[in-house]
Amino acid sequence: MFIDFETFSERADNLRKLMDKACAAVGRSPAEVVLMPVTKTQPAAAAAYVARYGLGAVGENRVQEVMEKRPAVTAPLRWELIGHLQSNKAKLAATHFDRIQSVDSTKLLERLNRAAAELGRTLPVLLQFNSGHDPAKFGAELTDADAMLECALGQASLRVDGLMAIAPLGATPGETSDLARRTFTNLRELRERLAPAFGVPLRELSMGMTGDFAEAIAEGSTLIRVGTALFGSRA
Ligand SMILES: *Cc1c(COP(=O)(O)O)cnc(C)c1O
Repeated sequence: MFIDFETFSERADNLRKLMDKACAAVGRSPAEVVLMPVTKTQPAAAAAYVARYGLGAVGENRVQEVMEKRPAVTAPLRWELIGHLQSNKAKLAATHFDRIQSVDSTKLLERLNRAAAELGRTLPVLLQFNSGHDPAKFGAELTDADAMLECALGQASLRVDGLMAIAPLGATPGETSDLARRTFTNLRELRERLAPAFGVPLRELSMGMTGDFAEAIAEGSTLIRVGTALFGSRA
């Protein structure tokens, strides 16, 4: 059976307290860090809880799943894609998502731009980088960052909000924490270099999940994507 709303609400309250504590530890304002629950593999009720609790957006990793769940959620909610997107699904993604966080190639940028233009909309995107150098993870290479951003800024129907990264898993909790920290430092430094060079704010730094959100907040995350701590482990 899926958790009830009270359980979700308690977990979200608790997580927000931990987020605020992580902010306080580095002198950041809690208002700078948004919690985006990740509802992938969970029933549509999970997304309904998020809206009822008063949060604005959920993260999902598959286009098809959102096409099935989104019509069941009537409350206002933004749906963001955080999973790898194949360019042949760009049109569907541009149709069913409010923002794409996982844009990792110039080809995908061009496809999304064309789809957004056809739909007559401006599509917000984040550029995903493999800043943890994880061979098992998607994301553009840091060495391609300038070319990616230049391409992104040239797409009239896209709006580039910022950057996104996923940290690799280590063999031990200590190693995982070190890798997370390095992944997030690299993404923050990338923004610090790119933003003035291209004259764009790149305001959003989407980094941090259940296991590493405190490290991410310490490194400047503006949006953490959390599934397990809110909904339990995925089947
Ligand atoms: C699944 C997923 C999350 C949430 O992970 P948890 O460890 O369950 O919090 C965050 N970001 C991405 C990109 C994901 O795929």
